[in-house]
Amino acid sequence: MYQESPVVKLLSKLVSIPSINPSLDQELIGCGEEPVTAFLEENARNAGLVTERQKVATGRDNLLVRLTPAGEVKNRVLLAPHLDVVPAAVEAFTPKIIGNQLHGRGSCDTKGSVACFFQALLDLASSSQRPEETEILFVGLVDEEFAQAGSRTFAESTIMGDLAIVGEPTGLDVVSSHKGSLWIQLETTGKAAHGSTPEKGINAIEKMHQAMNLLLGEYQNSLNSKSDPMLGRPTLSLGAIKGGDQPNIVPSRCQLELDRRTIPGETVESVIEELTSLFEPLKTSAPKIKISRSVPCPALNTDPSLPFVRLFLQCTQQQKVKGVPYFTDASPISMGGTPSIVFGPGNIAQAHAEDEWIDLSQLEQARSIILNFLRELP
Ligand SMILES: [Zn+2]
Repeated sequence: MYQESPVVKLLSKLVSIPSINPSLDQELIGCGEEPVTAFLEENARNAGLVTERQKVATGRDNLLVRLTPAGEVKNRVLLAPHLDVVPAAVEAFTPKIIGNQLHGRGSCDTKGSVACFFQALLDLASSSQRPEETEILFVGLVDEEFAQAGSRTFAESTIMGDLAIVGEPTGLDVVSSHKGSLWIQLETTGKAAHGSTPEKGINAIEKMHQAMNLLLGEYQNSLNSKSDPMLGRPTLSLGAIKGGDQPNIVPSRCQLELDRRTIPGETVESVIEELTSLFEPLKTSAPKIKISRSVPCPALNTDPSLPFVRLFLQCTQQQKVKGVPYFTDASPISMGGTPSIVFGPGNIAQAHAEDEWIDLSQLEQARSIILNFLRELP
C-alpha cells in the first residue's frame, strides 16, 4: 500500500539520488547536493511553482520554491529541510521498503522531511484552498551536515519569514529549543629540554594537566549547577589532545580541543570569560584560549507563544514544545531574524546509522500535519 503513495514515491526517488555533503565525501562517490536540487527544481516548475536558486558555493545552491497567496503577501512561512546527507556505502542509495519502513541513506535525515514538506506544498498548490495572505517558501538547504553554509547564506539574505519549520527527524515532536555548540582550543607552551634533565625545560603537558584538573573538577561542577528547563545542563567534552613528540624530549607545546554545548543565555563571550577566570590561579601556566570553529553556533530558543508556533502545535495535536541536544539549521536561520522550530518524521537514533530507515506511517502523518497547517494559514 505504501509504495503507491505520492510522498513515499517521492522519498524513494530522493534517496536514490546520492547527495553526499562534498566536505564529508572522502571517497568522492557523490557529486554534492546538485542532482537533488535539480530534481526538485524541475518538479516544482512542472507544478507551475516559481523557483529561484541562491548560490552558496561553486555548484552548490539553496533551492527556493515559492507558493504565492491569492492576495497581497502579509506573512511568510518557510519550510526548510536540508538536501545533503552523510556518506554511506553505494548500496545505501538503493531504497528498500520492508514492511512499513523505508531503508536507505537520508531516508530519516532528512529526505523524509524534504519529501513531506515538498509533497505538502505540491498538494496545496494543486488545491483551491490556499492561504489568502501568506506566502509559503520551500527552502532546500545545502551543507547542513558540515558547516551549515546553506542556512548561513540564507540568513544573510533579505528574505525573512514569520516562522521557519526546519526539517529534522524529531519523531513529529515540535522542537523550539536546542543546545548551541562551541569548539574551543586550549594551548600551553613550555620550553624543550633533554628528557634526562627535565629540570632545564618547562613541560607543556604538565601545564595542560593542571588546566584539565580545573576543567574536570571546578568547571564541571559549575556546569552541573546550571540548568535549562527544556535542555538540562550544559556539557563539556574533552575531544582531542596533542602534545610532545617523543619520551626523551620535554614537550614545549600541548593542545587540547574542547566541545562545549551551551544552553540559552550562554554566549561565546560568557564561556571565554568563565574559562579565563577558571585558569587565573595558574598564572603564567594558564593555557591560551581560542575558538577553533569560525562559525557561530548559538543555542536555539524560540518563543513558543508566537502565533504561528501555537498554530503549528495545534495542528500536531500536541500540548508542548520540546528541546533537543543536537544542533540544527534552525539556529542560523533564527540568527537571520526568522523564528524557527524543528520538526520532521523519523527518529534521530536512525540518523547517520549504517542501516538508516524511516517509519512510513510517520512520513504520511508528517505530510498531512504540514498540509493542514498550510491550509490553516491566513
Ligand atoms: Zn539532518
